[in-house]
Amino acid sequence: MSVSQQVFLRDAMRRLNLTRDVFAVRIGVKRRALDTWLLPEGSQEARNMPEVVSRFVTEIVENEALLEKYAQSAQSGPLRDRISYNGKHQLLSVDQFTRESVEELFRIADQMQPIARRQKVSRVLEGAVLGNLFFEASTRTRVSFGAAFCRLGGSVCDTTGFTFSSMAKGESIYDTSRVMSGYVDALVIRHPERGSVAEFADATNIPVINGGDGAGEHPSQALLDLYTILTEFSRLGKLLDGAHIAMVGDLKYGRTVHSLIKLLALYRDLKFTLVAPKGLEMPDYILEQAGKRGHVIEQTSSLEQGLVGADVVYATRVQKERFADEQLEGYTADFQVNKAIVDRCGRSDAIIMHPLPRDSREGAHDLGVDLNHDPRLAIFRQADNGIPVRMAIFAVLLGVEGLVQHSLRDVTWSPPSHIGPDDSVFHGID
Ligand code: ASP
Repeated sequence: MSVSQQVFLRDAMRRLNLTRDVFAVRIGVKRRALDTWLLPEGSQEARNMPEVVSRFVTEIVENEALLEKYAQSAQSGPLRDRISYNGKHQLLSVDQFTRESVEELFRIADQMQPIARRQKVSRVLEGAVLGNLFFEASTRTRVSFGAAFCRLGGSVCDTTGFTFSSMAKGESIYDTSRVMSGYVDALVIRHPERGSVAEFADATNIPVINGGDGAGEHPSQALLDLYTILTEFSRLGKLLDGAHIAMVGDLKYGRTVHSLIKLLALYRDLKFTLVAPKGLEMPDYILEQAGKRGHVIEQTSSLEQGLVGADVVYATRVQKERFADEQLEGYTADFQVNKAIVDRCGRSDAIIMHPLPRDSREGAHDLGVDLNHDPRLAIFRQADNGIPVRMAIFAVLLGVEGLVQHSLRDVTWSPPSHIGPDDSVFHGID
C-alpha cells in the first residue's frame, strides 16, 4: 500500500460515503477493530489491518467506481446517440468511440454470445431488412454482417461488385443510397474509395455501417479485434493498459490496422511496434492521431526485431490491389510470420491475430499456416467474434439492445461442441 493505512481507510469511507459504523458492517469487522486501524501509527492502541481486509476494501471501492461509471452512462442517454455520426445512427469510423462507449458496446456483445454460440435465438429484429452493398471483394465482413442480422431475426438483401449494380450505368452514390434506403432498414457498404461510404451515409437517414472504404477505415473489424484482444487477455490474466502490440505487414494500405491503432490508442501506456517493409509504413496522419495520447510508437522493417516482447502480433496481408507505384521489393524473402520466427522471437503467451484473408500460398509474405495447431493463433476465435460484435452494432444502431435479454429462447437444434477440428480447448462453444 503506497499510502498509510489510516489515509487508505479514510479515503475509502469518503468515496463510499459511509460512516465508520456502517463501513465496519460493510466490510464485516467490529467497530472496535476498525478504530484501532484508524489510530495514528505511533499510538499504543494502534494495530495493523490484515492484508485480506485491505484487498477487500480495495475491491469494494473499485466496484463502486465502476457502478458509478455505468450509472453515468445510463443517464447520458442511449449509446447510439453518444456514438452518432453527424447526429445520425451510423458507424463510419472508430473516431466515434471513447473507451467507455466501446466497452459499453462490448457488454452488449457479451450478451449476444449465447446467440452467437448457438445456444439461444432471438427475434428482436424481426421484419427488418439489411442491405449489404459490397463493391469490393469480401467473404467474412459480408457474410458475418448478414448472419449477425439474421441471428437477431432480420433478413438480408445483397449486391456484390459494380458489374451487377446500376453504378455500372453511371448512377451516383447519392441516388443509389437514397433508393436503397426506401427498400431496407440498414445498409452495410464496402467500396474501394476512401471516404465513399461517408458519401452514402450523407445521402440517407437510415443506419449506414462502413464495411471498408478503400485504404480508409474498417471500424467493425477493429471493434472485433479489440474485443478479441480483451477476451484473450482476460483468459491470460493480462491487462490491455501497458501492453505491447506489434502490427506487421502492409501498414500503408491496410485499413484494419488504421482503425485498430486508433481504437487501441484509447487505452493507456501502450507500446506499438510497427513492422512494415520500406515504402509500406503506416501513414503519418494515423500515427499523429494515435501518438497524441503519449503511447510509445516504434517503427522497424525487421520482422525479427519487431516481434520481440509483443503481447499481440497482428499480421496483415499485402494489399496488392491498392498498390500504385509500390513494388513488393520492400519485403525480404523471409518476411513471413511463421512458427519458426514466432518461437524464436515471440513471447510464449503472445496472441497472433490477422483480419483475414491470409495469403496461404507458398512464399507469401503473410501469416504461415504452420501455426494452425498453435494455441497462440487466435485468428479463428477472432473471426468468430465478428458475429457477437456485429450483432451488438446492429442492436445499438437500431435501438433494440435493451430487448435482447428478455427475447432469448433455447435453440431447437444441437451444434457441435467445437466448430473447428483444430480449435483449442478453450475455444469451445459450450
Ligand atoms: N478483410 C480485410 C479488409 O477487408 C483485410 C484484407 O482484406 O486484407 O480490409
